[in-house]
Amino acid sequence: MKLETLAIHGGNIVTDSEKPVIQPITLSTTFVHQPESMIYARANNPNRHALERLLAGLEKGADAAAFSSGNAAGVSVFQALEPGSHIIAPDDMYHGLKNAILSLFKGVLEATFVDMTDLEKIKQAFKPNTKLVWIETPSNPLLKITDIAAVSNLAKEKGAMVACDNTFATPVFQNPIDFGADIVMHSSTKYFGGHSDIMGGALITKEKDAFWEKVKNVQVSGGAVPSPMDCYYLCRSIKTLPYRMKGHAEHAIVLANFLSTHESVEKVYYPGLKTHPGHLIAANQMTGFGGILSFQVKGGAEEADLVISKLKYFTNATSLGGVESLIERRAASEGPDTLTPQNLIRVSVGLEHLYDLLEDLEEALH
Ligand SMILES: *Cc1c(COP(=O)(O)O)cnc(C)c1O
Repeated sequence: MKLETLAIHGGNIVTDSEKPVIQPITLSTTFVHQPESMIYARANNPNRHALERLLAGLEKGADAAAFSSGNAAGVSVFQALEPGSHIIAPDDMYHGLKNAILSLFKGVLEATFVDMTDLEKIKQAFKPNTKLVWIETPSNPLLKITDIAAVSNLAKEKGAMVACDNTFATPVFQNPIDFGADIVMHSSTKYFGGHSDIMGGALITKEKDAFWEKVKNVQVSGGAVPSPMDCYYLCRSIKTLPYRMKGHAEHAIVLANFLSTHESVEKVYYPGLKTHPGHLIAANQMTGFGGILSFQVKGGAEEADLVISKLKYFTNATSLGGVESLIERRAASEGPDTLTPQNLIRVSVGLEHLYDLLEDLEEALH
């Protein structure tokens, strides 16, 4: 099945004798004991099962586990590691997960945060107890590109696993497992949900190995699982994911080019631009460059906030991946110890008409 077909049919498991076309929502928390039945909804549920099968298919993995948020998914990988393990992670890692490593796993796990675009630095960061290399590409919010195949080869030599946060690219544009990643992570809250109204997260594994057993145990015993309603709505949303992603990316490249030539703009970050330092690697491992871009306004935080305040269609809010355009000055969200420049604005380019978005930006930048 091609991606568009899989997105529509891969998450619809109908077992009812009335044969509804769309899989019903099963709210029951418990199931009649039978040899092959599901037992209890924390362990499994038909809608979650359908979502997990869909996600495993889209990411070309052997299995998937759905969670109640992207952070719950990421934290489950860290929880499945043996205490004393060392993680190599990006210095610009999604701040919520970086904070989780530093606070929840303090004294339990060790971490080194490095520039993931620099293979030499990654090499130097390995220790005898390095068990996991965490990749996020394109990264948030600087859209840095990590060479998934190169990092995976390095990790394999050293006997470490690779997990890749694929939230920005989605399986429409990038399948990290094809390039050697062992685990793929998603915040389903973003493009999978696509309408800024569902929290969720997911992990997809290349192989059903011993580590995956531990991850599944964290999912079921930890219990940070999504509700049947959320699973249903995610399956529904993902049906349009391939077409939404094409629209997001088509708009993003036009806005990125427009901003690149604007006199009030200092710098634009979008992997689809030929001037982006990771463009060639992105072109090799992605089939599209996504719908997120960042730019620095000439001036500081104040100038950036002024631009944001003038916009009509770009809503000043955190998060990304919805059909509606969102914009935010990222440093303000990330707190005082952030590495993000104060004048950097992140844009989640939506599916409104392109000319409305262009006109809005043009007027706000005057
Ligand atoms: C939002 C996000 C997360 C965290 O997901 P939640 O659903 O908010 O818990 C992790 N990684 C990236 C890249 C994200 O954008």
